[in-house]
Amino acid sequence: MDLAQPVEELKGIGPKTAETLKKYGIRTLRDFFYNIPRDYENFAAPTSISEIQPGKIVIRGKIDKISTRRARRRNLSVTEGVISDKTGSIKTVWFNQSYRAKQFDPNKEYYFTGNFELKNGRYSLISPSAALVSDVDTSAGLAPIYVAHGALKSADFRRLINNSRDKFAKIPDLLPNITPGLRRDSLFKVHFPTSMEEIKRSRDYLAYEELFALILAAKLNRRENEKLQAVKIPFSLPKIQDFLEKLPFKLTGAQKKAAWEIFQDLEKPTPMNRLLQGDVGSGKTMVAALSAYEVAINDGQVALLAPTAILAMQHYEGLKSLLNQFGVSVALLTGATKNKPELKKQIASGKIDLIIGTHALLTDDTEFKNLALVIIDEQHRFGVEQRQKLMLKSPSGLAPHLLAMTATPIPRSLQLTIFGDLDVSILNELPKGRQPITTQILQEIEAREKLYPKIQETVSKKQQVYWICKAIDDNPRAETTSVKTRCEKLREIFPKLKIEILHGRMKQAEKDVIMEQFAAGKIQILVSTTVVEVGVDVPNATMIAIENSESYGLAQLHQLRGRVGRGKEASFCFLLTASDNQPSRRLRELEKSSDGFYLAEVDLKLRGPGEIYGALQHGALDLRIATLSDTKLIHQAQIDVDKFLQNPDNMLKYKELMQGIKRYQQITTLN
Ligand code: ADP
Ligand code: MG
Repeated sequence: MDLAQPVEELKGIGPKTAETLKKYGIRTLRDFFYNIPRDYENFAAPTSISEIQPGKIVIRGKIDKISTRRARRRNLSVTEGVISDKTGSIKTVWFNQSYRAKQFDPNKEYYFTGNFELKNGRYSLISPSAALVSDVDTSAGLAPIYVAHGALKSADFRRLINNSRDKFAKIPDLLPNITPGLRRDSLFKVHFPTSMEEIKRSRDYLAYEELFALILAAKLNRRENEKLQAVKIPFSLPKIQDFLEKLPFKLTGAQKKAAWEIFQDLEKPTPMNRLLQGDVGSGKTMVAALSAYEVAINDGQVALLAPTAILAMQHYEGLKSLLNQFGVSVALLTGATKNKPELKKQIASGKIDLIIGTHALLTDDTEFKNLALVIIDEQHRFGVEQRQKLMLKSPSGLAPHLLAMTATPIPRSLQLTIFGDLDVSILNELPKGRQPITTQILQEIEAREKLYPKIQETVSKKQQVYWICKAIDDNPRAETTSVKTRCEKLREIFPKLKIEILHGRMKQAEKDVIMEQFAAGKIQILVSTTVVEVGVDVPNATMIAIENSESYGLAQLHQLRGRVGRGKEASFCFLLTASDNQPSRRLRELEKSSDGFYLAEVDLKLRGPGEIYGALQHGALDLRIATLSDTKLIHQAQIDVDKFLQNPDNMLKYKELMQGIKRYQQITTLN
């Protein structure tokens, strides 16, 4: 069976259903069979209504008296009904699922699964899922639950997959060296399981399959990269030594090691593909500067791409004052740059050694004379296309070396898979003299009495404060204070201080002015949204307060906190939470540790990689089954991929596999 056929080939899938499926990315038979249940329900032993206890329950019964009403709060519809079995009846309620009102036949029996809990003073079954008893194969006792897609609910998927039951036998194998038929058996069993044990085993195989494909893609990328020609940059020890002697500080051991790894890569005829990972404040920019210097003294040009114009400007200011003294010419090219044509001419003629800008540098018409190194700050994604664009920008046709920097520590398991074709340098050491940041969770009610004196103290030492808010504007429905309101309030309390706001909707020029003033110490409190999240470097800022801290991810909070603790003075981070619940595990971990690598592992466990590398997984990578925390499986897949690659015939033989990984190849890496 050719799994690339469209879903319409299946029984019971007409044009309309196919249309909906397509909208949700289910186009082919493969997509259809790999639409794995998100969970299972155990229908074998439903509870009698007379015996139910609060908590998660399954009951079997009929439903009637269904009606929908609008709640007082706008945008909320409430659908209520009464479920009965032989022993009694209970109320059930759904929110914003008005289709439920028409879904049921009062004469038929359904399984209802959900939480039985106290709501508005009475017990009800809250938002249960429902399945027609006659649709559910209870011989196994386990019924799959599928993610609903538009008009297609879980029960519809159950029916569709049931209709195609006999098709599973024809699913071909995908991988070599696997028990023949393991793929089709595993797929069948995740849809028609007879035990949890069986589900686990089947999912393990499917996860292995995914990891195999991902790792294979990464390794092939590495191979392809090795076929490219790069500009060779010979290492020049005396000049680098001279450079280091003139620095106001000594490099950390980790910086030295990373720089050395980079210098070695630059000497090779194949392009470097290196990720420089270092926790916030570990001094990545200095390593970038050294690399840029090394390239510039060899007549190569360097492009440094920052994620935002603010960061581009900061890099420009910092690197210009550092590198100019060594004869390296540095220029900034962003939307706000004046006299662009002239600057572009200088870049094309090779007069400028280091060009700093945002990602727009890739897409605009800037030409280089000899682009030899591209440094990307804080951006994981850098696909084949971007690299090709860069090669076109170099008349030599040679591929530039690539150095990506990130402060988001990438857990080891991700490194082995998604980022498998990168070489990694790690800055696991902070520069000497840094003091740890004191982190404290504060309830907003306590905030006033604790924070205001702290601000006073900080400012009186001529140090500065960040205050992070969630929103730009006020929103009466949300429990957040906007930057604007917060700024006004702080100005009332501290009338003598200069307090300004910064957010993403301001014009670039306005943002630049504010950042410059803050960096120069002219603003004492910067009330900002998360636009300051990455990279901004103002060592004199020693206090940060983050409002609604519970609404951010761990990695993001760690990034925000990293805006302070960048100088010699002791720094403080206050995590404000509006709720009077126990602070979340996230916040407590953050309070305990300032080690980004540790926090990344915690985050991976707490949220799963799908959340952390959100766009990547949901959009492009879309791992369905594998969890990247399964190191054993990853390890096995790695070994097997290496074996697979040893035999070049495999690439011709396993067509479906090779076709399937093309997508991964485009998105996995920096290649
Ligand atoms: P990040 O890794 O977060 O990008 P930066 O490169 O911005 O960190 O460095 C943070 C601060 O530490 C900067 O002010 C930088 O000048 C300083 N710095 C970098 N390397 C060292 C070092 N070896 N010793 C002391 N200070 C350093
Ligand atoms: Mg940085």
